[in-house]
Amino acid sequence: MLVVTTIAGVRARRQELWRQGKTVAFVPTMGALHEGHLSLVRRGRELADEVWASVFVNPTQFGPGEDFERYPRHLDQDVALLTKEGAALVFAPSVKEMYPRPPEVQVTLPRLAPHLCGAHRPGHFSGVALVVAKLFNIVQPEVALFGAKDFQQAVIIRRLVEDLNVPVRIEVVPTVREADGLAMSSRNSYLAESERQQAVALWQALAAAKAAVASGERRGSELEKLMLATLRRYPGVRPQYVAAVDPETLAPVERVAGGVLLAIAAYVGNTRLIDNLLVEVPQ
Ligand code: AMP
Repeated sequence: MLVVTTIAGVRARRQELWRQGKTVAFVPTMGALHEGHLSLVRRGRELADEVWASVFVNPTQFGPGEDFERYPRHLDQDVALLTKEGAALVFAPSVKEMYPRPPEVQVTLPRLAPHLCGAHRPGHFSGVALVVAKLFNIVQPEVALFGAKDFQQAVIIRRLVEDLNVPVRIEVVPTVREADGLAMSSRNSYLAESERQQAVALWQALAAAKAAVASGERRGSELEKLMLATLRRYPGVRPQYVAAVDPETLAPVERVAGGVLLAIAAYVGNTRLIDNLLVEVPQ
């Protein structure tokens, strides 16, 4: 597998692949790879001739006081995992390579970003949209893969690509979970053992709300109350938000019809975790 740190290096390799008539599936990541990321790589292998990943902890999507500095970075281990999964190239640029000077262009999503995580992380999705737009222009993949774990991010990227006519197909891959239901995340490595046990609260809350929908509950506010009540059974968990929203607009739903996205963000100790579940409602 090629490890490329420069934009020029990626472009040169991309030119070669075009000459060979080969397609690329692209998996953008911040590294500290786990099974969730690797499931994207595996799916990518089914969709294109080569899978290319990026490992870049993007400063523009972290707010002041967030974990940019201490975000886990293990490029050697990531390279080994990507090699094992059959990725052909990893792009691991420096911050200087991606942002030689402070970017002037901003990507704002005034209707999608303010919901869910965006309400608590101002500027986060602008940072994500900007870096993904840059990465798409650098890699120029045929298809790019994103995890349903970051549902709002996936909705925003789909919209970015639609509005800017970026010629890339977006594929969203189901969330990979630990045996007890905890969604895999690079940030799970922050959890102490006692916190790890409490972290299952998010999945338990989503599962409780899903069961309520199956039993006929249609009021969004009741689903939110139920998720909150479930989280409150775990003393080590501090909910940030619980929400029952429309999966397309991400706006709260009063009455569920069709599909509903159940979404949670909560602190376990100092670690902020998110999870979500898309529930189809029997008509
Ligand atoms: P990150 O490195 O956290 O920015 O994630 C890179 C990509 O992997 C994003 O598209 C995430 O949604 C996806 N991802 C992260 N965790 C999981 C998971 N547990 N299951 C599936 N995809 C995931």
